[in-house]
Amino acid sequence: MTKAILITGASRGIGRATAIGAARRGWSVAVNYQGDAAAAEDTVAACEAEGVLAIAIRADVSREDEVLALFDQAEGRLGSLNGVVLNAGVVAPAAALADYTLERMQRVFGINTLGAFLCAREAARRLKAGGAIVAVSSSAVRIGSPNEYIDYAASKAAVDCLVLGLSKELAPRNIRVNAVRPGLVETDIHASGGRPDRVAAMSSLIPMGRAGLPGEIAPAILWLLSDEASYTTGALLDVSGAR
Ligand code: NAP
Repeated sequence: MTKAILITGASRGIGRATAIGAARRGWSVAVNYQGDAAAAEDTVAACEAEGVLAIAIRADVSREDEVLALFDQAEGRLGSLNGVVLNAGVVAPAAALADYTLERMQRVFGINTLGAFLCAREAARRLKAGGAIVAVSSSAVRIGSPNEYIDYAASKAAVDCLVLGLSKELAPRNIRVNAVRPGLVETDIHASGGRPDRVAAMSSLIPMGRAGLPGEIAPAILWLLSDEASYTTGALLDVSGAR
């Protein structure tokens, strides 16, 4: 079935791969981004090359007014949404918790947790029966990320809890809610957290001996959005090379 999907943080990385994968399935895509308009337009062009309708929408997911406008614009251009991917996320520079500033913690929880909650709330208000929400959590939830970013790990643990609770709330309306929990994935997020060498430094710690690629995470998200996953809800799916 043709679907209309909104993906937060879809200009780069896992969100971009998910947007392009959705377009390959013939789904129309709203590509949300926060600051990198050129990257968002590049993702849109890659989706359009698959022959579908794709649009870029700037919005900071941690701001309620911008989230409301994001959903209004997506529905205005694509029609009723069938799926929402809560993907936008950030890390902060690696540090021990004793050195965290208030501003750092507010940013991490504001984007990763509050942003996911605001977008999940709008999805809960707007999706119809048969709709699906997929949150992008992290294997950091199982590890805790000591001396790197416990705040990040905890912000994603809250997302897992959001999925567990909301899946039960929305099941009677036949709206499914799941999470994908990637392990270490080769994207810009590590450099943005001040660790461009993080993937190379940590790959040997992963049982599969390497980091994943965005294109290896996207299929799990797309399957959970698809009708093939019609009885899967409340699931936390690790895609982490056994990390
Ligand atoms: P990425 O390459 O750094 O891309 C992040 C995306 O989020 C970009 O599109 C960015 O937009 C957007 N974004 C950032 N802040 C935003 C905000 N306030 N509002 C809206 N969009 C915002 O990251 P990634 O590695 O693909 O990560 C995607 C998700 O996977 C995140 O939730 C991350 O926590 C999770 N994850 C990643 C890994 C990994 O190793 N990479 C592992 C586990 C989980 P701009 O382009 O405009 O900046």
